Amino acid sequence: MRMCLKQKSIVQQDSILQKTRELQKILEEGKQEEKFLQYEIVRQQGYYNMLDDRARILTGLTEKEYNYILKHYTELILKFPKVKDKAKSKLQYLKSAQISKIIAIKGCSNCIEIVSKKLDVTENDLCENCKKFITDQQIM
Ligand SMILES: [Zn+2]
Repeated sequence: MRMCLKQKSIVQQDSILQKTRELQKILEEGKQEEKFLQYEIVRQQGYYNMLDDRARILTGLTEKEYNYILKHYTELILKFPKVKDKAKSKLQYLKSAQISKIIAIKGCSNCIEIVSKKLDVTENDLCENCKKFITDQQIM
């Protein structure tokens, strides 16, 4: 009887350990994807060459994390194929938010109305005059 109980508990422990390991793996991959996304956003912004240390600072990643991604970029893009689109939409969102902010301050009343109604506003929604404010800010 005792023997049986003991055996059962070992089996249970093994399965708990197994589940914990799986969970850890999922968490680590999630973190990896998140970090890769940070890298991809900066890459798509294209302010700096990715070998420039200023690019790394923009990503907020450590040197070790950054160099890993730099070295394994092709692998990572295959592993997380959605990251490219995620970075793209994140950048578009940031850009729209920035356009709205600038137009709210400097824009004409017509464009102010446009940006207050449209969530995914781009420079093409604006009049020529207001477009210039955006170009001046160099957010494109
Ligand atoms: Zn305007």
